[in-house]
Amino acid sequence: MTPEEDEHDRSEIIRRLEDEKQRIDRQLAKEKAQSARAESSADDPSFGTEFCRECFVELNERVPLTPQPGGYGEDVYHCRNGHERRVRRR
Ligand SMILES: [Zn+2]
Repeated sequence: MTPEEDEHDRSEIIRRLEDEKQRIDRQLAKEKAQSARAESSADDPSFGTEFCRECFVELNERVPLTPQPGGYGEDVYHCRNGHERRVRRR
């Protein structure tokens, strides 16, 4: 193996490790958010239909929900990230 190849291999390994680290960091953040979500009630009424809960859990962002037409016996809301929330009408 030439020194150039050796150097190339090394940077390749470092790059891969960094990718892996980022992946794990993201995974950890996600699991943390999910366990925080599990601790609060599954159907936390404080979220209501104003904000998307998935976005809050996954992106830690409060994304407004928009009411959609249609739905029999339930109200349908979408957020701009494509999540859907259905709420049974009382
Ligand atoms: Zn969303």
